[in-house]
Amino acid sequence: MHEMTLAINIVKIACKTANQNGADKINSIEVEVGKLAGVLEDSLAFCFEAARNNSIAKDAQLKILTIPGKAHCIACDDSFDTDTFFTLCPECDGIAIDIIQGKDLRIKSINVD
Ligand SMILES: [Zn+2]
Repeated sequence: MHEMTLAINIVKIACKTANQNGADKINSIEVEVGKLAGVLEDSLAFCFEAARNNSIAKDAQLKILTIPGKAHCIACDDSFDTDTFFTLCPECDGIAIDIIQGKDLRIKSINVD
């Protein structure tokens, strides 16, 4: 399962960062999930609860911030919101579109004791 791998990686990175900062307990982890990242947030939250066991993040809360998708039209230089990769430019109907936001999942912050 895609979300399980992501959840395990989130816990791994958070624990490593906490260790490097001398913390022995993680209170919460804030992640940004792009609308176009192909991640099911409910599923990620569910997997996180399993992934955090036996780690210093075992009581940590996962906070998910949704980042809307944004695209840029190469032809007319317009930028617009989108929920899909397959979209036409609303200004010029162009098909040469760059997705400039919303493709990624990243850890925004970690709250430790
Ligand atoms: Zn355009």
